[in-house]
Amino acid sequence: MPEPTSTSGDALPDSIDRTDGRPVYVIGGGPGGLAAAAALREQGVRAVVLEKSEHVGASWRRHYERLHLHTTRRWSALPGLAMPRRFGRWVSRADMVRYLEKYAEHHELEVVTGVEVTRIGRTPDGTGWQLDATGGRVLTGRAVVVATGFNHTPRTPAWPGREGFTGELLHAAEYRAPAPYAGKDVLVAGIGNTGAEIAVDLVEGGASRVRIAVRTTPHIVRRSTAGWPAQATAVLVRRLPVGLVDRAGRLLSRVAVPDLAAQGLPRPDTGLYSRVKQGAIPIQDVGLIDAVKTGRVVPVAAVESFDGDAVVLADGTRITPDVVIAATGYERALEPLVGHLGVLDSRGRPVVHGARAPERAPGLYFTGFTNPISGMLREIALDARRIAKKLASAG
Ligand SMILES: Cc1cc2nc3c(=O)[nH]c(=O)nc-3n(C[C@H](O)[C@H](O)[C@H](O)COP(=O)(O)OP(=O)(O)OC[C@H]3O[C@@H](n4cnc5c(N)ncnc54)[C@H](O)[C@@H]3O)c2cc1C
Repeated sequence: MPEPTSTSGDALPDSIDRTDGRPVYVIGGGPGGLAAAAALREQGVRAVVLEKSEHVGASWRRHYERLHLHTTRRWSALPGLAMPRRFGRWVSRADMVRYLEKYAEHHELEVVTGVEVTRIGRTPDGTGWQLDATGGRVLTGRAVVVATGFNHTPRTPAWPGREGFTGELLHAAEYRAPAPYAGKDVLVAGIGNTGAEIAVDLVEGGASRVRIAVRTTPHIVRRSTAGWPAQATAVLVRRLPVGLVDRAGRLLSRVAVPDLAAQGLPRPDTGLYSRVKQGAIPIQDVGLIDAVKTGRVVPVAAVESFDGDAVVLADGTRITPDVVIAATGYERALEPLVGHLGVLDSRGRPVVHGARAPERAPGLYFTGFTNPISGMLREIALDARRIAKKLASAG
C-alpha cells in the first residue's frame, strides 16, 4: 500500500509556500477534506490538506466509544475507496478512524498535520487565496476548500448559575464511555442523536439514574425496519414535497414507534421533514425507545438554570443530579476564518456549498456544512466530486 505524503507542520516544505503553480488548499483532514482532496487528485488537480491536529480523522478519534454510524457502510464511503465488508453494516467509530487513515494512504494524499488555518483572504493581486496559519505561515493557493466540520466547537448554553453548579458539568464532546458515571445520577441535557445515545450508554454502563432533559420533542425513527435502512427512505424522499414526506413520516412513525407520551415523550406536532428543513435531524433509535418505555431513561423538562447543587427545569422542578452532560450541539465557528468575506448566513453557515462558490468569493468552496436527511457522509462524497470537477474545468 503506498504511503500518504503526510508531513508534520513543523516541517512544512518550502514548496508548499510557493506562490507559483499554486495548489488547492483543503482545510481540515476529516472525511470532508480527505474526500475533496482525493477527488481533486483523481481529476489531476494538486491538493494539499492542512489539518490542525496530528492525525487525519481527528473528530472521529474523539467521539464516544460506543458510536456506530447511523448511515450504512455503503452510503458512508468516500469517493474511490469502498469500506471493507468486515466493518459490517453499521460501521464502528474505531473502524471509521481506520478507514480515514487508509483512505489518505490509498489516495496518496498530501496531508500536512499540525497546521491550523486562522484566516482566509484574497491575495493582494486578487488571483488566488491567502491562508494565515499557525506558526506565522502564509500560504497561497489558487482555490480553497473549507472542510473544518459542522461539529467544530462544542456549544454549552449560558445557563444562569452554571458556573456555581457544585456537581460535574461537561459537554457531550468530552464524554467517551460510561465507566466514570457508574453508580451516579446523571442528567443528559438535550435529546438529539448524541444525547439519546449517551443516555442509553449510561444506563447500560451502570449509572444509578439517567434523566434526559427535553426542550423540543424529537422525531424518533428506527435505524432499519425489516432490513430496510431509514437512510434509504431518506435518500428516496429527499426531493419530494415537505408536506407529503411529513404525512408519510407520521403514518410510518405510528406503525414503527410506540407512543411514549405517558413516559414524557409525546409525538411531535411538527412534521419530520419540516423539522429537518429547520436543521433538526430525527433520532435514529439505538435503544432509547426501549429505555424510555421501561423507565430506565426518564425524560424531564428542559434545563433552565443552575442553583448550587440543583438544576432548575423549565416546569419549575428542581433536581440534584451528580453529573450534567450537555448534549447541546456544536458551533460551525467559521467567523474567524471567513466571517470578513460576507459568505456566511445569519446562523454562521456558508451561503453555498459543494461546487458553488459564493459570488463574492470565487474559488472558495465549502463542504460538510449541511446536515441532510440522506446522511452527511453521503453528501460530503457527492460534494467532493462536484468541487473537483468544477476546479478541474477551471484549469
Ligand atoms: C457523533 C456524530 C456522529 C455522526 N454520525 C454520522 C453518521 O452516522 N453518518 C453520517 O453521514 N454523518 C454522521 N455525522 C456527521 C458527519 O458525517 C461527521 O461529523 C463528519 O466527521 C463530518 O466530516 P467533516 O470532514 O466535515 O468534519 P470533521 O470530521 O469534524 O473534520 C474536520 C477536520 O478539520 C480540522 N480543522 C478544523 N479547523 C481547522 C483549521 N482551522 N485548520 C486546520 N484544520 C482544521 C479538524 O481537526 C478535523 O480534523 C456524525 C457526526 C457526529 C458529531
